[in-house]
Amino acid sequence: MSHELDRLRAQMDEVNLKLLELLSHRAHLAQSIGQVKKKQGIHRFDPERERDMLERITKSNPGPFDNDTIRHLFKQIFKASLDLQQKNHKKALLVSRKQQPEDTVVQVGEVAVGGPGKTVIAGPCSVETEEQVREVARALRQQGVRLIRGGAFKPRTSPYDFQGLGEEGLRMLRRVADEFGLKVVSEIVNPADIELAEETIDVIQIGARNMQNFELLKAAGASRLPVFLKRGMSATVEEFLFAAEYIVSGGNSRVMLCERGIRTYEKWTRNTLDISAVPLLKQESHLPVFVDITHSTGRRDIQLPVAKAALAAGADGIMMEVHPDPAVALSDANQQVDIPQFEAFMEDIRNQGLLQPAEP
Ligand code: PEP
Ligand code: MN
Repeated sequence: MSHELDRLRAQMDEVNLKLLELLSHRAHLAQSIGQVKKKQGIHRFDPERERDMLERITKSNPGPFDNDTIRHLFKQIFKASLDLQQKNHKKALLVSRKQQPEDTVVQVGEVAVGGPGKTVIAGPCSVETEEQVREVARALRQQGVRLIRGGAFKPRTSPYDFQGLGEEGLRMLRRVADEFGLKVVSEIVNPADIELAEETIDVIQIGARNMQNFELLKAAGASRLPVFLKRGMSATVEEFLFAAEYIVSGGNSRVMLCERGIRTYEKWTRNTLDISAVPLLKQESHLPVFVDITHSTGRRDIQLPVAKAALAAGADGIMMEVHPDPAVALSDANQQVDIPQFEAFMEDIRNQGLLQPAEP
């Protein structure tokens, strides 16, 4: 009896290997077909061809499996072949480490973002007045921060809220930044304003609400300015990388990614900082990764531990909002830190050695 079982099992092992060989052969054929389709510009998925194949197979079905079972099994094989073609496609993403193993370093003035050091980008939520920007710029300069942020085109939830100073705001930022030797990061929401950005600022920010504004991504891809791309509030890490791919495939490889929290049911923070996105993005992509410690938390009291977590998780830098008088800020009044708080934050983070260049 056990001899009989051994014999049957030996046959089964042989059939398994034959099946494996046939499956691999089939997979190679599917890859070749995928390449031909790509050359001819034909879509990978062809439902008619799948139906033909299934019909042919079930017609020749000798049993004992019924046709439904056969259909199910073959559909799994079809799907695996299609996934194989898609995985090759993913491998080819320009933002992927598979394409470029070494880190991208984005040079913004004297700051090498994504290099061995950690970068801080700070400034008010919105540009309000020249004096407001100047007070922040002075504090940044004193703390050794070289990149100032400030919104001039504000994507506000309510149309009745302060919408930003627009072009005037960008020019204001430029003037003050030049006084203090800083570089400017500011959000652009309209593809038609990229030209204005090139004239006035140093880094184009694309905000969470516009992460999948494909026309804006394409326009940023055609720009000579680096792009600071924020993760959409409901975007997966994969969707985030595809958004970056739009910019890089358009010819602009100077992209920085920023995790800024995602929407969850949690109410004690404005968003939920997805800390795991940091090592995932660093693993998957060669682009520099930031964490926005302000919008992710929406509160001032946990910014230091959150910044520490971000840097410990491998972020290349942090972004934060600083306002001379947050209580009267025209946007995000509850979450911006004032200048003494910013100075204390910078001192803490420096004292803990978190901003020092990594050991060689
Ligand atoms: C911002 O950084 O100014 C901003 C509006 O943030 P987010 O796009 O992440 O909401
Ligand atoms: Mn803000």
